[in-house]
Amino acid sequence: MTSVPAVTFAPMSRVAVLGGTHGNEMSGVFLARHWLKNPSELKRSTISVMPLLVNEAAVERCVRYMDQDLNRCFTPEFLNIDSDQTLPYEVLRAKRLNCLLGPRGSDEAMDLIIDLHNTTANIGDCLILNSSSNHFSTQLASYIQRNLKGLRCRVLALKLTAANLYDISSVGKYDLGVELGPQPHGVARAENLSRMRKIVHAALDFVELFNQGTEFEECDLEIYRHLKNLDYPRDAEGEISALIHPDRQDKDWLPMKPGDPMFLTLGGETITYNGDKTIYPVFINEAAYYEKRTAFCITERVSARLPRIHKEGKSS
Ligand SMILES: [Zn+2]
Repeated sequence: MTSVPAVTFAPMSRVAVLGGTHGNEMSGVFLARHWLKNPSELKRSTISVMPLLVNEAAVERCVRYMDQDLNRCFTPEFLNIDSDQTLPYEVLRAKRLNCLLGPRGSDEAMDLIIDLHNTTANIGDCLILNSSSNHFSTQLASYIQRNLKGLRCRVLALKLTAANLYDISSVGKYDLGVELGPQPHGVARAENLSRMRKIVHAALDFVELFNQGTEFEECDLEIYRHLKNLDYPRDAEGEISALIHPDRQDKDWLPMKPGDPMFLTLGGETITYNGDKTIYPVFINEAAYYEKRTAFCITERVSARLPRIHKEGKSS
């Protein structure tokens, strides 16, 4: 494998750890509440770490959101909309959070935003990056993967660019989404909370080591790159006409080859995958994605070469 040039980053001084971006995803809600009362657990010598309960009204009611999905409200259009208008709760909240954690694109923005989520899908321990070309975040994911031996952290990379950012973690300079499942929304399971907590600690340890001058060597990282979302089959009225096939249910991250069962119609007919290459479905049958017309997300599995990274000013 050819070598890639090293990349330097300024020291990271401020990190936000967010729970309750979706108000019924309980691992992050419980952890954020705990850390707001007991912040010492997050303390590191070189960084200031801010825990935050993000969508307070939705958390209070234990619902995903009040008016609309907050984690789709951080688009340039919403953030720049005139505040005098009567706006949905989450749009107003996004504007306020952008001031608190950002503003996005400014020097004052949080160095790293860690955003905690749960899914009903059988996704295990998943690290989500907004882009696979942000190498502070890719090296952070690689560090977590290597250092949490008991966990199998897979990395899902989105393809967000400045023009199509929409999520809260994109307000920071660097981002890490943590998605743990399966867990029903509204339910807190101790083992999921414990794994999420370990991931957050490993992430903070990484930032601390980076600030203290540790160099993170060039390495390979297996990444599942998001390609698109696939809807359920629908009838002429637009109603869902087939469910996830039993052979595919809970098989997140496993390859789906042409001809593999994908959906089962209510009439009992199997619908197979008819693409021409192997894909890797994730977020299979996520409860909150029915309204998004998403049966699962399609990814491709790639091996990425990560550059060595180190702190600015340190000789290479
Ligand atoms: Zn969520």
